[in-house]
Amino acid sequence: IEKTLDLNIYVDVYAVDALAQAEALDVKIKNGDSLGKLFGCIVSVKDVISLKGHKLSAASKILEGYVAPYDATVIKNLLAEDSIIIGKTNCDEFGMGSANENSIYGICKNGIDPTRSPGGSSGGAAVSVQMNTCLIALGSDTGGSVRQPAAFCGVVGLKPSYGRVSRYGLIAYASSFDQIGIIGNTCSDISKVFDVIAGKDPLDATSSSVLLSERPKSNTKKIAYFKSMVNHEKLNPQIKSAFDQTTQKLEIKGYSVESLDFSFLDYLVPTYYVLTTAEASTNLSRYDGVRYGYRSMDADTLHDMYINTRSEGFGKEVKRRIMLGTYVLSEGYFDAYFKKAQQVRQLIKAEIDKVLNAYDYIILPVTTDVAWKTGTNIDNPVEVYLSDVFTVLANLTGLPAVSIPNGLNTDGMPIAVQLMGKKYSEVELLELAETIL
Ligand code: GLN
Repeated sequence: IEKTLDLNIYVDVYAVDALAQAEALDVKIKNGDSLGKLFGCIVSVKDVISLKGHKLSAASKILEGYVAPYDATVIKNLLAEDSIIIGKTNCDEFGMGSANENSIYGICKNGIDPTRSPGGSSGGAAVSVQMNTCLIALGSDTGGSVRQPAAFCGVVGLKPSYGRVSRYGLIAYASSFDQIGIIGNTCSDISKVFDVIAGKDPLDATSSSVLLSERPKSNTKKIAYFKSMVNHEKLNPQIKSAFDQTTQKLEIKGYSVESLDFSFLDYLVPTYYVLTTAEASTNLSRYDGVRYGYRSMDADTLHDMYINTRSEGFGKEVKRRIMLGTYVLSEGYFDAYFKKAQQVRQLIKAEIDKVLNAYDYIILPVTTDVAWKTGTNIDNPVEVYLSDVFTVLANLTGLPAVSIPNGLNTDGMPIAVQLMGKKYSEVELLELAETIL
C-alpha cells in the first residue's frame, strides 16, 4: 500500500489492527484451532460500508467526522471466517459516478496507466486488487460500480442478485438497486467470499431466504446476446471483436450462442437515472447536519443550518442527482417520470425474464470503451451516464452479473466481457466465467 500511495487507492489503512489480527490468527494455528473459510484473506472495503469504530464517509464532506457505531453484516461474516480487513477504499461520493472523480479525497488512478481512470464508483476497490494490496475488495454496485471498475482495471467483479447479500451497514444510494459486490483476481476467490457473505439477514428485510444450495441449475448450455448491444454505435471496435472471439470460444466449448432482438436498449439509462435519482433524493434527506457528520456553523436559524449544511456538505454530482430526483418525484411530475419509469422497469424485467426462460445466460459487453483518460467528459454528465448502458440492466432487473477480463486493446488497456444469469445463479455464473478466463 505504501508503494502505491500516488494512486490514491485507500482513504484509511488499518496497519496496526491488521497486524494484530494477523498475530491472533497465527495463535489459532499454533493452538491447532479450527480455521475460518477465509483464513488470512486480506480484504479492502469501499468506504460506503460500516466498520465499527472506523470513519465512514462515502467520500463525502457531509459525513466528516462520522464514525460507524456497528459492523455491516458482510463485515461480521468476513471476520467470523478469519479474514483481515486492511483498509477503506476511495470511491465516488455516495457511489455516484463512473470514474472515481467525485470524491473528497481526490481522484483515484488506474495502476496500469495512471493518466487513466480506474472507473467508478468503486475505483479504489478495483485498483486495490489490481495492485495486489489485497486479495479481495468489497464494493457496491447500483448501476455497474463493481463491474465497470473491474473491467477498467483487468480484474473480476461480481454483482450478486438483488437480495442475495445483506445491505445492512451499506450506505444507501438507491435502495432497490444497491448490492454489495466482490472484486478479485479469480472467479474461484470471488466464489469463496460470496459463499461467506451471501444469505438471509434478519437485519435486511430485502435479503433473500433462498438457500445457496437451492440455486437454479442449467443444463441446456444456451447463451443469448442482444444484437443492438453488440452493434451499439459507441462500442469500441476492439471490445466488439474481443466479444465476438469469446462467443466463438463458447461455441467451441459446446454452448450455443444466439443473437436476439432487444427493444429496450435506449430506455435502460433513462429508466435507471429517473429511478435511482428519485431513491437517492429520499435516501440522502437524512444528512441534515443533525444526525450525522458535518454541520455548517454559519447559520442563525435551524432552517439555514439545514440549507448551509447540505449546500456545503454535498458535492456537485450528488446535488445534481438530489435535484433531479426531487423533480421526478414532485407533484405534477410523479406520474410522467417516476411512475412511468417504474412501469418501464417492469417491462424490461418481463422481457429479460422471457429471455432467461429460454436461455441460461446473457452475454454482453461491460463498457462502451476501455478506461478513459482522467477528466474525460467531466463537464458532460449525460455522456458519462450514457456509458452505463450495459451495466444498469442487471440492477434494473435484480439479476446477478459478472465482469471478467477479456484481453487487452492495442494500448495494453484491459477489455472485459459480462455474463448475466438467472436470479440466484451466482455460483454457476462464476463457474461459466471461469471457463472463459
Ligand atoms: N455509474 C453509475 C452511477 O453513477 C453506477 C454507480 C453505482 O453502481 N454505484 O449511478
